[in-house]
Amino acid sequence: MITPTQTLWNPRTMSELMETLKDFGAMPYRILAGGTDLLLELKRRPQPGLAVVNLGQLRDERFGQVGLDDGAVWIGAGVTAANLCHNEWIAKRWPVLCEAAMNLASTQIRMVATVGGNLVTGSPSGDLICALVAMGAVCRLTSTWQVHETPINEFYLGPRITSLSQGEILYGVVLPMGTGYATMYSRFVKVGTRRAMECSVVSVAMHVEFDEHNRISRCGLALGAVAPTVIDAREAADMLVGKQIGEINAELMNGVVAAAVGRARPISDLRASAWYRTQVLGNVVRGLMEEMVDKYSRR
Ligand SMILES: Cc1cc2nc3c(=O)[nH]c(=O)nc-3n(C[C@H](O)[C@H](O)[C@H](O)COP(=O)(O)OP(=O)(O)OC[C@H]3O[C@@H](n4cnc5c(N)ncnc54)[C@H](O)[C@@H]3O)c2cc1C
Repeated sequence: MITPTQTLWNPRTMSELMETLKDFGAMPYRILAGGTDLLLELKRRPQPGLAVVNLGQLRDERFGQVGLDDGAVWIGAGVTAANLCHNEWIAKRWPVLCEAAMNLASTQIRMVATVGGNLVTGSPSGDLICALVAMGAVCRLTSTWQVHETPINEFYLGPRITSLSQGEILYGVVLPMGTGYATMYSRFVKVGTRRAMECSVVSVAMHVEFDEHNRISRCGLALGAVAPTVIDAREAADMLVGKQIGEINAELMNGVVAAAVGRARPISDLRASAWYRTQVLGNVVRGLMEEMVDKYSRR
């Protein structure tokens, strides 16, 4: 039951959470996970009396868990960046996500910052978003009326705007396993004006899987901080699919770099100029391909 004076809600089960959100109807509210984005936002723009629904006391195994989901990998929205850094399974299967989590803020922030918070904030420099776009993650949204899935690159309708509706939460993300792979190259690179506690000037996530014939069977490339939202550089990534390592020559790399840079719409701000961002983006994408070729041609 919603009372007009109550502003903090602490649902303990998923059904209690869903009922609470349903009872709000069209009334404004905000969801609080780790609070590392939301509390700063509310400090900047206080909204007295705003209902805040705290997920900190939610006891739902799936929400806070990394596990299997019908042959895919499941990451609950309540999983923290620190959980991802220490998950051996993710480290082995999706190193790009581990690297992104390790690059997020500081140890203290990683302890509370959640996957759900990073994704729903929708910052163009969101580190976990960048990795999850390269991995082709699918967002699972839930409410009292439905559970549905949407590919992560369709989750964003604009800068910091998601397709979440009133009464709906991000429950977690599903990572399709694909058809299997023999080897992989999976990296996240973040360039900032200093090493820690800094939003990126440019970030790039690349996840490449090779089949048993050393041919690229799957490739994801995501670009952060160079447009209003994280970009899925699909055209650039597709140029590598089907290629063997020996076929990735300078001409192909130039094409991939041009396709990636062509997708960027960087701005000039306090951290860097648009020109600098474009140069760095091209260098990072090329550097990743060179590292991949170097690593696998010596095998
Ligand atoms: C000093 C500092 C450094 C930072 N450095 C980085 C960095 O290097 N890289 C980076 O990517 N980010 C960085 N951040 C941003 C932040 O830490 C991350 O975005 C973090 O993952 C947010 O998660 P949270 O759990 O704290 O979210 P919250 O602050 O609790 O919530 C963020 C938003 O998501 C919504 N929300 C949360 N969970 C759900 C859910 N399950 N369903 C629906 N809506 C939900 C909230 O309503 C809110 O709008 C930094 C923040 C600070 C303060």
